[in-house]
Amino acid sequence: MDRRSVIKNAGIAGVLAAGVAPAVVQAQAAVRWRLSSSFPKALDTIFGGATEFAKQVKAMSGGKFEISVHAGGEITPPFGVVDAVQQGSVEMCHTAPYYFFGKNEAFALGCAIPFGLNSRQMTAWMFEGNGLKLMREFYAKYDMINFPGGNTGAQMGGWYRKEIKSAADLKGLKMRIGGFAGKVFERMGGVPANIPGGEIYTALEKGTIDAAEWVGPYDDQKLGFNKVAPHYYYPGWWEGGPQLDFFINQKAFNALSAENKAIIEAAATYAHVDMQAKYDGRNPTALKQLVGAGAKLHRFPKDVMDLAFKESMALYEELNAKNPEWKKIYADYSKFRADANTWFRFTEAGFDDFMQQQKL
Ligand code: CA
Repeated sequence: MDRRSVIKNAGIAGVLAAGVAPAVVQAQAAVRWRLSSSFPKALDTIFGGATEFAKQVKAMSGGKFEISVHAGGEITPPFGVVDAVQQGSVEMCHTAPYYFFGKNEAFALGCAIPFGLNSRQMTAWMFEGNGLKLMREFYAKYDMINFPGGNTGAQMGGWYRKEIKSAADLKGLKMRIGGFAGKVFERMGGVPANIPGGEIYTALEKGTIDAAEWVGPYDDQKLGFNKVAPHYYYPGWWEGGPQLDFFINQKAFNALSAENKAIIEAAATYAHVDMQAKYDGRNPTALKQLVGAGAKLHRFPKDVMDLAFKESMALYEELNAKNPEWKKIYADYSKFRADANTWFRFTEAGFDDFMQQQKL
């Protein structure tokens, strides 16, 4: 390339930079959305699912599609996000669908039910099974479309002031327990409270509740539960793999270009994978630190697990009889759960069980 053509090319580049390019940008209208999260900013894992999503949308659209992310309570109460999306006062939210089981118990099937699918199985039911299709059909009644937006993996069973030696110790126990699981906890004699993440510590510290569960070591350490309730139980039988969701107002979604719709889908899937990776990557260190600081780890007594399982199955039978939407989705979900557990029993469980017994 001689000097003259370099100058000539530089000239074209200059024209593009100064004139033509901005005209192209102006031709595609910028899209600005608001997202309400149900979570507090301090939880970089679960609140971070929404900020990661928004970051990806902005990057993939070359800055033409921007979504501002608002913590729970900032523009919408943490548990008011679904109403806000349905009414269109925000275009979208990021939440745990089971918070809304009071509207219809079927919301829980898109998130977690006691003794439900684990994280891998939930993703498989969504993307390969009928999960996404069935849940979208259900959410359409609320004028929303969902995109899976993260999973925490199996959770811990929470923090207790006093040891739980048998199922009898749950009688009258006041506990913050996530969403739908409270229905089972109630049948076991407990007193459930559905409290947003940002308000649990104060309730536990004041003694308004006797126990609280949130997610697992990394988040729980940030929220400081170990300082007021030393007994840390596992496993969180009510949350084997809770899925978070992005809910988008259907009209707002329909108004997007095909390109922006594809961007939403790709960014949500990215955030979905990213959240599970963050939990799996950060929980091990946090657990060591919590135990080092005095947290007492206990496995739930067998009679607690057995009673919880029995009450869960009885509840699902009752819901089959009175909630047609639950019945339709649960039929598919429970079939998938049976097959997935038969398969995982041979492969994942066989491999994990051996590995966990080795001195690594
Ligand atoms: Ca939880």
